[in-house]
Amino acid sequence: MKLFDRAVVGLLPLIPKPVVRKIADRYIAGETLDEAARTVRRLNEVGCEATVDVLGEFITDFREAEETAAAYHDVLDRIRQDKLRSNVSIKLTAFGLSLDGAKCYALVKKLVGHARELGNFVRIDMEDSPVTTQTLDLYRQLRRDGFENVGVVIQAYLRRSPNDVRELLSGELTRGTSFRLCKGIYVEPPEIAFKDREEIRNAYKSVLRQMFREGSRRVGIATHDPPLIEDARSLLREQQIPKERYEFQMLLGVAPAWRKRLVEEGHTVRIYVPFGKSWYGYSVRRLKENPSIAGYVAKAMIGLG
Ligand SMILES: Cc1cc2nc3c(=O)[nH]c(=O)nc-3n(C[C@H](O)[C@H](O)[C@H](O)COP(=O)(O)OP(=O)(O)OC[C@H]3O[C@@H](n4cnc5c(N)ncnc54)[C@H](O)[C@@H]3O)c2cc1C
Repeated sequence: MKLFDRAVVGLLPLIPKPVVRKIADRYIAGETLDEAARTVRRLNEVGCEATVDVLGEFITDFREAEETAAAYHDVLDRIRQDKLRSNVSIKLTAFGLSLDGAKCYALVKKLVGHARELGNFVRIDMEDSPVTTQTLDLYRQLRRDGFENVGVVIQAYLRRSPNDVRELLSGELTRGTSFRLCKGIYVEPPEIAFKDREEIRNAYKSVLRQMFREGSRRVGIATHDPPLIEDARSLLREQQIPKERYEFQMLLGVAPAWRKRLVEEGHTVRIYVPFGKSWYGYSVRRLKENPSIAGYVAKAMIGLG
């Protein structure tokens, strides 16, 4: 990222919300379920699968967790009703993980149960490091309770990740886990996370190989980084990994040219479709990763964006 773009990232908290909303529009489907369903349909029509995320995290009242859970039940029903090709992605903090672990588990279990009845799947996103262990534990508990239609996310930048993958894939109940592998988005200390771009890339390549070697059921290769996409394509070709064992995953509004190319090559591509009223935190995280953010902000400020 260029120096000027980096400077604009530092100024993001000062940028008026309507301007942030304008430049972040490409990353979110809208505020309503209707808008999300429309976006998923459009993606399905161009050969992509989707995973829907109801935006919302950092809650302070358990009632908000219940509202989030209800919204996800509606999403699953809508997917079924409209015959959309989509699953859902959830954040455990939005289900009250930091407020009451037992109540959070009950809410998630009910949702995963509902998804199972509908023949659908729930991906548990990975958040920042204070909740990594709790998140993996909750996943294990779901598997212990007999749910197969659920998967986790591994962040390549965390030094612990190879160990987590090994433990999950050798565990009696979690053998054959369905993973998503991403670089990781949160700011973590160097003691627990790689910071260097190349180190993170190498960790990504290594964990991806480990997931295939050690018997994952399916891997969501979630990246827009061209060297990593190229590496994954070579690996899939060389090792003749069957289609049912992987998919590429990308975020709405990012790298559409790669998305198109991978679909044309016959790979399954799943797009992460966030929607909801709490769009601000997610949008800011995306904007921080946009290498051309300064240009977008400047255009939006003068009304051209
Ligand atoms: C489907 C999916 C699910 C994810 N789930 C999680 C999760 O559960 N937990 C978690 O910590 N992280 C998650 N992430 C985020 C991930 O960890 C990275 O922060 C993010 O994907 C950027 O990393 P990258 O691999 O694309 O590489 P980067 O090096 O960040 O990006 C590679 C290139 O992609 C383009 N690009 C990337 N982001 C943007 C952007 N916002 N706007 C414009 N261009 C961009 C740029 O050209 C950039 O040079 C997810 C990512 C995806 C794709």
